[in-house]
Amino acid sequence: MIAEVALNLPLRRTFDYRLPAKEAEQVLPGSRVIVPFGTRLRAGIVVGLKPTSPLPAARLKTIQRGADAATLFAPELLDFTRWIAEYYFCGWGEVLEAALPSGMGVRFRTRYRWHAQPPPSALEGLSPRARTFLGQADEWDASQWNRLAEDPADRQWLWRQLRPGGLVEARYEYAGLKARQRTERWVLPTTTAAPPPGRRNAKRETRREIILRVLRQEGEVPIGRLKALMKDPGAVLRQLAREGSVALVERPLEQRSAVAMPPPEPFLPLNPEQQTAYAAIEGALEQEAYRGFLLQGVTGSGKTEVYLHAVRAARARARSCLLLVPEIALTAAIVDRFRSRFGAEVAVLHSGMGEGERFDEWNRVREGRATIVIGPRSAVFAPLKNLGLVVVDEEHDTSYKQDEAPRYHGRDSAMLRALRNNAVVVLGSATPSMEAERNVALGKLTRLRLHRRVEDRPLPRVDILDLRATPRQPGCAIFTRPLVEALRETLLRREQAIVFLNRRGYGNLVRCTLCEETLVCANCTITLTYHQAQQRLLCHRCEFARVLPERCPACNGEGLQVVGLGTERIEQEIATLFPTARLLRMDSDTLRRRGELERMMAAIRGRRYDVIIGTQVLSKGHDFPYITLVGAVLADVSLNIPDFRAPERTFQILTQMAGRAGRGERPGRVLIQTYNPQHYSLLAVRGHDTEAFAEAELALRAARNAPPFAGQVMLWVSASKPAAAEKLGGRLARRLRSAAREGVAVLGPAEAPIRKLNNRYRWMILLRAPSVAPIQRLLRSVFDGPRFGIGVKERVTVDVDPYNLL
Ligand code: ADP
Ligand code: ZN
Repeated sequence: MIAEVALNLPLRRTFDYRLPAKEAEQVLPGSRVIVPFGTRLRAGIVVGLKPTSPLPAARLKTIQRGADAATLFAPELLDFTRWIAEYYFCGWGEVLEAALPSGMGVRFRTRYRWHAQPPPSALEGLSPRARTFLGQADEWDASQWNRLAEDPADRQWLWRQLRPGGLVEARYEYAGLKARQRTERWVLPTTTAAPPPGRRNAKRETRREIILRVLRQEGEVPIGRLKALMKDPGAVLRQLAREGSVALVERPLEQRSAVAMPPPEPFLPLNPEQQTAYAAIEGALEQEAYRGFLLQGVTGSGKTEVYLHAVRAARARARSCLLLVPEIALTAAIVDRFRSRFGAEVAVLHSGMGEGERFDEWNRVREGRATIVIGPRSAVFAPLKNLGLVVVDEEHDTSYKQDEAPRYHGRDSAMLRALRNNAVVVLGSATPSMEAERNVALGKLTRLRLHRRVEDRPLPRVDILDLRATPRQPGCAIFTRPLVEALRETLLRREQAIVFLNRRGYGNLVRCTLCEETLVCANCTITLTYHQAQQRLLCHRCEFARVLPERCPACNGEGLQVVGLGTERIEQEIATLFPTARLLRMDSDTLRRRGELERMMAAIRGRRYDVIIGTQVLSKGHDFPYITLVGAVLADVSLNIPDFRAPERTFQILTQMAGRAGRGERPGRVLIQTYNPQHYSLLAVRGHDTEAFAEAELALRAARNAPPFAGQVMLWVSASKPAAAEKLGGRLARRLRSAAREGVAVLGPAEAPIRKLNNRYRWMILLRAPSVAPIQRLLRSVFDGPRFGIGVKERVTVDVDPYNLL
């Protein structure tokens, strides 16, 4: 038998391996196996079995072993992941890897072993520690050795011994799963369990008597139950087991960390608009055929309540449910709301959880113990069976698109998975993406509207402040007087305010006032951002960091100055203006720790802060009842990004931010500072006019032949030398042009806006056609046919439906 194995490599092909007879029963399509690859071992997924391989027998390698007790991927998921790999033009194994939670990973280790019995002289030159250790060891782990051999001489010694003719051999081995199914020991009474012999003089029950009594009264118990009653029941239990009075078994632990279940909550009776929306979704569930909906309503209009009702309807039909949420919004709030209605049926798959927890949750889903999954984009691969309802909340959020391989879009993939399962898909948003708007126009999605906020709270009043004409607060270049006044009034009324700027750090760049030089990253052509809290200059695209030099590296003068705005600087300015106000800064710098978002949310709701300064992490759906003012410091930050989606993103972020104001009893107010007061996206924010924005934006996109009216694929070409990148870009573009058919336009090559990233020089080629399909055919003809050769230091990255154009 031959197994076709998909490996986590950026290659659009699978590999054939011989399947040994002894493994044939365990290894099925969807199983994970350990296979030799090159000089090492790798884990891969069996995607098919066949009697023969076109490869010559001599070149066929053999599967070393299976890795898990059960198959990981059902046929439905194998098909789905293959389709995703085809669409996004990446490796099937890459998609399968993304589909597994990190806790499901496997470990390998290197072990060293003496080739031949070492003569005592062999250990000469080693440090005393290493010598003592090796004098006794027959075999040892690389990790053990690395801890021990601090001396460079020790390391050199090992390298010498590993060479041909040396005394040590290295073996790379499979070392098991990263996380394991956790089990717990249970004690079972057997029918032969006799009542304990009465001991006449006993005043106190013996351990043995306690155990048998508990088993009589309670039946099967986990060992923890007995440990609560006595110290160390182990010895007595083993004795009882030998006698046949009890049986001891290992059972999977339900959940690693006991989740605190919120108290059950009733379903709210829906208002008429919600009812209409729900009825449409329920009607579609009844049909058991694919249908797509766009549920459009501002934050607070009751979308989540509609999701909850829809999930209940799907569960009533024994169908499972998937709820995708943007990465950062995965707060306890939404999970709690689902748990309080559906209890342990809810599983959460989230990168913020520990590996063990994710492993457990994933297994609960795969085994059908949990049937409602909540998670970010990767949850689209959750091993749910009989999928009936897929909800994508905040469908317009750009975090749904993965910016590394596999470059899939969570929303679009979710729609596809729903289609393949005859399931119903509901996209929810206050500010739908242009892709969703286009699908409504084409009849692929049905729009359902919630016009009103629950309890009819009014929408906040939005004013645009023209930074070219509005006077500033004296002594402050950042804030206009009206914004400072509004802040003052808000604080006087003991209400809360948000001050929003979509840029973290202190300023946006550091420039020398003497020679005009700006400080850039050593690895990227990106200006460094000064972060005051860490007192460092950071690159926002790579790991590079350095201290702020005293003198300009170019002219050696003392002219370096931090220019521009960041959230840290805003915080400092507000502290100067309002010294007694309690300030909280929320951006990805302060939110780094796990659970920090929840802690901050609770503190805001508890009114422990007056002004919250933050980036767009603030715009996600959180309920802050006491916020009555939202000030956007500089709307131009997002407008000026060279990306055709910049107006859409600006409209979405600012509308979401505006939605934070006035959710309680009091009406809210929003002030937007900008140098572009007439920009159509800002006017639409002011008018709360999503329709007007969509109309204007779609007209522009159609005129420019941009998505969603065209399909696009970006090819990033990079190399470690600028000339090599340019040459490769030119060569690839020529090849694409000569093969292009079916109306595929090849644009470029052009130098990337970020010319150098992580020490790689980058060029880009944009492919555009009426849809993506002809572009994919072109890519296949160029990359899958006679090979398009590229050098070892060169790279071509394919991004289908790109969102990152920098
Ligand atoms: P969204 O998801 O659109 O932001 P939610 O579903 O979270 O809206 O609803 C906003 C608030 O209104 C929540 O506090 C929710 O409990 C409440 N709510 C929603 N629907 C109803 C309803 N039918 N009756 C009463 N309160 C509701
Ligand atoms: Zn960098």
